[in-house]
Amino acid sequence: MKVLVINCGSSSLKYQVLDMTTEALLAKGLVERIGMDGSVITHEKIGMDKFILTVPMKDHQDAIGHVLEAIQDADHGVVASMDEIGAVGHRVVHAGEKYSKSVLVTPAVLRGLEECCELAPLHNPPNLLGIAACQALMPNTPMVTVFDTAFHQTMPPESYIYAIPYEYYQKHGIRRYGFHGTSHKYVAERTADILNVALDDLKIITCHLGNGASVSAIKRGKCIDTSMGFTPLEGLVMGTRSGDIDPAIVTFIREKEKLEQGVANDILNKKSGVLGISGVSSDFRDIEAAAEEGNERAQLALKVFAHKVRFYIGAYIAEMNGVDAIVFTAGVGENDIEMRDIICNDLGNLGIKLDLVKNKVRGKETIISRDDSKVKIILIPTNEELMIARDTYNIVKKIK
Ligand code: ADP
Repeated sequence: MKVLVINCGSSSLKYQVLDMTTEALLAKGLVERIGMDGSVITHEKIGMDKFILTVPMKDHQDAIGHVLEAIQDADHGVVASMDEIGAVGHRVVHAGEKYSKSVLVTPAVLRGLEECCELAPLHNPPNLLGIAACQALMPNTPMVTVFDTAFHQTMPPESYIYAIPYEYYQKHGIRRYGFHGTSHKYVAERTADILNVALDDLKIITCHLGNGASVSAIKRGKCIDTSMGFTPLEGLVMGTRSGDIDPAIVTFIREKEKLEQGVANDILNKKSGVLGISGVSSDFRDIEAAAEEGNERAQLALKVFAHKVRFYIGAYIAEMNGVDAIVFTAGVGENDIEMRDIICNDLGNLGIKLDLVKNKVRGKETIISRDDSKVKIILIPTNEELMIARDTYNIVKKIK
């Protein structure tokens, strides 16, 4: 069965086509500037040059229409007709407490997800638009939703309850949900494969360090804690997000800077993190270049980032009473040799010893700990699309 994976944002859309008999990636692409001037689709049949088409796309249905044309094209397509696509897997960010697993799309599921929109007002509505557009164009193709929050639903209450009046949890669903769940789950499963040990016998700390970043504690294959919270703002220092701060700072800044409604939120989400500290960039490559040239704030931003990752690693070792493997993934985790070095430095007493030579690797599954390290340190490129395709295939094959 061939599966189309759709990850729909407000003005952009990523897609992949995978053949699930072999899990081979057949094609992938990106649509940008949906509903804006200069809408463009960049499509790549694996092994061929990219095909780029600038064409007006007034909405998500237009965008999906161009995706379907691209994947059926005689030259750069990968299917002869849409009948070959057995299912569509959609990434949906937030399922609240409704779903702890991926599910087949039904009218009831869609109603439930509408209710979750207030928990993820920026993400869920475009995700749902993507589903609606696909349903309109492929009315007979089964669809599955895969949620960023689902994997974290196994957290115990002591990990997800905030120490604020309990009624806010009951009335408004204010609790830790966690995000990046598909990625944390994927790399945890890969860890078990790489180490040839059952997931059930492992304690893993997964560090998804991208522009958005989170750490999870995974015991016996179940997430027991994660650093992102009610929203993706909590936890680690990120590209532009603050991560954990004293909540009193928000009111204080609002008064001091005489900020309008919503501005503080914007500052914490878009102008903070390593960008806010360094004043240079949210991209670690730029910050590292500046740090090397002696920019002290860039140096500080890198130190603060690493400090927070180490802080969570320590906390999760305590929560799990040990750790067997620490995994690095996503843009920074997969590529930033220096940052992995800083994070893992001087943790020998915890049995964590990075091999500085093996660590000189980017974007390739590698065990980067020393042979005498009790804890394995592993670089695993994440593959959320494959995880979405797998869940989609496993659900749909049962009903076909
Ligand atoms: P997103 O959260 O947007 O999916 P990614 O996981 O793609 O983010 O990570 C993007 C980030 O990865 C970039 O902003 C950059 O900071 C970092 N990155 C990518 N390549 C490198 C590299 N070679 N060295 C250091 N950092 C890198």
